[in-house]
Amino acid sequence: MNIDSIQNGMVIDHIRAGYGMRLYELLGLDELDVSIAIIKNVSSKKLGKKDIIKIDADIPVNLDIIGYVDPSATVNIIKDGKLTEKKVIGLPKTLTNVIKCKNPRCITSTEQEINHIFKLTDEKNKIYRCAYCETKAN
Ligand code: ZN
Repeated sequence: MNIDSIQNGMVIDHIRAGYGMRLYELLGLDELDVSIAIIKNVSSKKLGKKDIIKIDADIPVNLDIIGYVDPSATVNIIKDGKLTEKKVIGLPKTLTNVIKCKNPRCITSTEQEINHIFKLTDEKNKIYRCAYCETKAN
């Protein structure tokens, strides 16, 4: 795929170097049958080095996951070969079914139907806690 000529899709830019793969996995992109490029360690004036993910398909992507992995990442939406929207994500206040609680006694560990919900409890230090048992996410 020609990574510079996405027609309809998304470019996740300004990902801190080293976090591109983590984001790729958390977004579940490995399970999709679409053209995706991860470009690692690109030189950036702002960040020194950065990762970029290019998705050459108009698929729904959970922006909360992007914000959780790197709140300073930007998302460029491309339609018909043109940049139509640029989003700055920021830290999401709540994460639903993004990460799982590690506490074996947590209700989310025993009840399969329950959503895994984490709340941002410390914005400065980027700390999330389970909404049910307050176990810290790592
Ligand atoms: Zn919990």
